[in-house]
Amino acid sequence: MRRIGIIGAGQAGLLLALGLQQHGYEVTVITDRDAQTILGGRVLSNQCVFEPALRHERALGVNFWDGVAPEIGGVAFTSGPITWKTPLDRSAQSVDQRLKMSDWLAEFADLGGEVRVHKVTPDDLESYAREFDLVLVAAGRGPQFDSLFARDERFSPYAEPQRAIAMMYVDGISDRVYPGVDFSLGPEGEYFALPVLTASGPAYGMYFSGIPGGPLDCWDGVADIDQHFEIAAGLLASFFPWAKELLDHASPLGALDHLHGRITPVVRDPVGRLASGALVLAMGDTAVTNDPIAGQGANLAAHCAAAYQARIIAQGDAVFDEAFMRRSFADFWSVGRVTTRFSNDLLAPPPPHVLATLEAAQSAPAVAHRFAHLFDDPSDYEGWLTDEAEALRYLKAS
Ligand SMILES: Cc1cc2nc3c(=O)[nH]c(=O)nc-3n(C[C@H](O)[C@H](O)[C@H](O)COP(=O)(O)OP(=O)(O)OC[C@H]3O[C@@H](n4cnc5c(N)ncnc54)[C@H](O)[C@@H]3O)c2cc1C
Repeated sequence: MRRIGIIGAGQAGLLLALGLQQHGYEVTVITDRDAQTILGGRVLSNQCVFEPALRHERALGVNFWDGVAPEIGGVAFTSGPITWKTPLDRSAQSVDQRLKMSDWLAEFADLGGEVRVHKVTPDDLESYAREFDLVLVAAGRGPQFDSLFARDERFSPYAEPQRAIAMMYVDGISDRVYPGVDFSLGPEGEYFALPVLTASGPAYGMYFSGIPGGPLDCWDGVADIDQHFEIAAGLLASFFPWAKELLDHASPLGALDHLHGRITPVVRDPVGRLASGALVLAMGDTAVTNDPIAGQGANLAAHCAAAYQARIIAQGDAVFDEAFMRRSFADFWSVGRVTTRFSNDLLAPPPPHVLATLEAAQSAPAVAHRFAHLFDDPSDYEGWLTDEAEALRYLKAS
């Protein structure tokens, strides 16, 4: 039986572990935190997962939250006087990763999977490469394993973070906010709110994204969720006046339900060569990290797990060599490339034809519908909004 070692128990690593386990592989997950520690720890993400990615979880029977998690049934957009909303053809879902990953890790162990709790270093990988037929590094975004996976300049336009990000979970806004992804664009950055299922029940994830050095880049030193909440309320009043009352009757959720930081988007060569010459394969954020502005990282992690699973199974008893690794990543990258481009472009000032599209969406439901579905499936982005002439032609015809 083929032995697979997976470093990391997140959306990428665990989905692959659960999938391979179902196909009879002997899978070991080596991760720095056990299920209880994940569940009791700090919030990790806003994790809006759209239907094409949820499909992978459902195919494995591991989406345990259908019918329990609030449905994210549409997208609302506001920027000053421009405002529109549109339903999604297929609902999205956000399940607090602390809940999801701790449940998945427990499920994996209950079904006989081996879990080792250990903080892996790059040096440890040599022994894992000897022990397993294939080692996957699914340890999230850098910098721990960055030296192993070279930056791919072709797809990494930014050397620095493009946003200061902050997120918290709140209760008590459901009657004031659109019951989907409620996205606002302001001159200094963005905010969005979306319904999530947490361990204590449904809540809302409130996400702020500020241009570095601007007034929404104000989170350094924020120590507790009350302070975070107070700053968020102030930002809404000052920079998103249409939502200034959003938090009036709300309250922050738990003490650990807030985070802030900065993420440099980067695409890496997924094949890491150890000193011995052995190869390891990166997946999820370790291979491709996007800024969360488009809400795609967890989606890509799921697509990556699905693509790698199919390739591992197709490999049969053949060696997991570099060609296998490059084929696996190429399958994933057929989805990941456009999504990454879309995410990176959203970080730049929108060009006039994109602004015209967002404005037209207010009076043309078909335009709103098409734009909103870029988040569900970004493959429509190229050949539409990447092409000014085509975008203007479409607007004229709409
Ligand atoms: C604020 C915020 C909001 C977001 N919103 C969205 C969104 O709405 N939609 C979306 O799709 N994505 C979103 N993302 C991105 C998404 O959370 C990530 O892209 C996704 O979680 C990546 O999954 P992963 O499995 O690759 O990595 P991770 O989820 O980071 O998992 C990595 C795993 O590796 C373990 N690990 C780390 N280091 C080691 C080590 N040295 N040894 C052993 N184990 C280790 C960790 O404990 C963890 O289990 C958001 C991210 C942030 C920060």
